[in-house]
Amino acid sequence: MTHCITHACGHEQAHYIPGSTSEKARKARWLTTTKCRACFVADRKAEDAAAGALDDAAVAHLRLAPLVGSERQVGWAASIRAKRLARMVQAAGGGDPDPACAAVGDARWWIDHRDLSDADLLTKARAAAPAYVPASDGAARHAA
Ligand SMILES: [Zn+2]
Repeated sequence: MTHCITHACGHEQAHYIPGSTSEKARKARWLTTTKCRACFVADRKAEDAAAGALDDAAVAHLRLAPLVGSERQVGWAASIRAKRLARMVQAAGGGDPDPACAAVGDARWWIDHRDLSDADLLTKARAAAPAYVPASDGAARHAA
């Protein structure tokens, strides 16, 4: 049986609630304390956007290689790279992370390696960016 629940956000949403009568009542009561699905999704999107903006700000001072790939790959890789590098900047006490990661511009590389630990990511980045040469000013440059 479907129950129409008025959520904490004020919106009504139909829910199928299985179980015994007391379980249904308990679940229905709990659902009234939560937000509806649409509000939940909207909140998550807003949180993701805010976190993304914080990551972008944390890595804004780094010289990052331009990302290369399809539009969708570049968009996804940009958020992965900002998140990972922001974490490395934080781990470095606000200093610059190893420049090898900033030198990797292959969007697919970032997507394929998104689940690696920071240490493994760095090892892969050093291997993936053999043309990287540290410049005297500390900026990442690619050998001509
Ligand atoms: Zn709602």
